[in-house]
Amino acid sequence: MTSHKNIAVVGAGFGGLSAAYDLARAGNTVTVFEAADHVGGLASGFKEPHWDWSVENFYHHIFQTDRHILGLIEELGWSEKVLFPRPVTVMYDKGKFYPFDSIPNALLYPGLGWGINKIRFGLVGVYLRLTNNWQNLEKSTVDAWMRKWAGNQVYESMWEPMIVGKFGEEYAKVVNMAWMWARLHARTTRLGTFEGGFQHFADLFADRLRQMGVTIFLDTRIENISTTGQGQLAIKTGKEAHHFDQVLSTTSPALLARLAPDLPEDYLQGLLSLKSMGAVVMVLALKHQLSKEGYYWYNIPKSAGFPFLSLVEHTNYVSTEHFGGDHILYIGDYLPQDHAYFDLDKEEILAKFLPHLTKFNPEFSPDWIRETWLFRTRYAQPVPLVNHSKNIPAIRTRIPGLYFASMSQVYPWDRGTNFAVEIGRRAAHMMLDDQMD
Ligand SMILES: Cc1cc2nc3c(=O)[nH]c(=O)nc-3n(C[C@H](O)[C@H](O)[C@H](O)COP(=O)(O)OP(=O)(O)OC[C@H]3O[C@@H](n4cnc5c(N)ncnc54)[C@H](O)[C@@H]3O)c2cc1C
Repeated sequence: MTSHKNIAVVGAGFGGLSAAYDLARAGNTVTVFEAADHVGGLASGFKEPHWDWSVENFYHHIFQTDRHILGLIEELGWSEKVLFPRPVTVMYDKGKFYPFDSIPNALLYPGLGWGINKIRFGLVGVYLRLTNNWQNLEKSTVDAWMRKWAGNQVYESMWEPMIVGKFGEEYAKVVNMAWMWARLHARTTRLGTFEGGFQHFADLFADRLRQMGVTIFLDTRIENISTTGQGQLAIKTGKEAHHFDQVLSTTSPALLARLAPDLPEDYLQGLLSLKSMGAVVMVLALKHQLSKEGYYWYNIPKSAGFPFLSLVEHTNYVSTEHFGGDHILYIGDYLPQDHAYFDLDKEEILAKFLPHLTKFNPEFSPDWIRETWLFRTRYAQPVPLVNHSKNIPAIRTRIPGLYFASMSQVYPWDRGTNFAVEIGRRAAHMMLDDQMD
């Protein structure tokens, strides 16, 4: 059955684009408004003139279990463009890095200790992969659950550094165990990407939407969403107001609260009470390979004293040939939204990082750097507290015709492009259902 409503989607990230796809396929007139000058949202990337692939602003992968995004890619006819290279991920222990990308390597990792610890690590991992009862797990914190079942040493050497790295000292003790379950349950060690980079995927997707009749306005920031009194919604871009039958916002919860102050008070409070971490990522184009061992992803515990959480040599994953011979390095961290790194300029942050690069290759020198870029977002990682399922804002906002789909609502899953596709499409189907009422 086709319908003919006039619909606006705010945001051209993977959630907004996926919703626009299903809404347009059902026969609606769809307009996407995007504040940035490009589509792709948090998964977007950039390209130098001598590169033939884009580099994501923030490192991104597709996991083999990502059935929503892989299913969408198949529908669009691009499955052969999804690649699964085999990079090496390493973990830190007492000044050294150890490969940690397979079960045999995990068993050899000295940070776990021996005997019973390895068995407990293995059993907890198997249990979390097999169980579906996340509702029970969300009643405990990761800290309490892991100390009880995996033991202090396994928790402190394996999981605590990850939790502290992702959520900082402020939230590390209060994040719920369903978050950890979702990570272990839904993620594979194989890491995939899209040929040409995620920006290429987003651009292809936007072109397909345009062919289907969707209008995408870039560089167009929505400033207000309100009801018109005639059963429609008005959305304001600067001085202009546009009227629609239905509107889907894919912005952050805090931004939706500002855009639509007419939302019922309890819904607004729900949006404003959600917590999240920011991310700061520096991208460097180097003249030489940094990791002589060809390692891709270095996991670094905060306790090791580095001023960052991850060092990721992208060109040990995707060939340097796609970047005109440049070696692409990411240096990144998840940080509280008021952290100093959100105010320092690029050179000040680089000055903090540079002295540590010789720990990855003693020959590194600053004249290896050809170019640097800095990317920051204050909305990078929602923080799920105990019993978080009660805090998830509904997709139907209670303003008739206004819908909301964001990273903060994909719980119990952790944020990701796969779940942006899932929630975007789920919201679109609710909007279509509501047209029938
Ligand atoms: C550091 C980091 C690493 C990540 N790693 C991975 C990974 O490995 N794999 C993975 O799958 N996912 C990863 N993610 C998560 C992934 O990027 C997100 O889950 C996904 O992109 C969210 O898509 P979205 O459409 O919900 O939101 P967004 O991508 O945030 O899209 C929202 C869009 O709305 C626009 N917008 C905001 N305000 C307005 C306004 N007022 N008017 C108009 N437009 C507006 C924004 O510009 C943006 O384009 C990572 C994220 C970060 C930060």
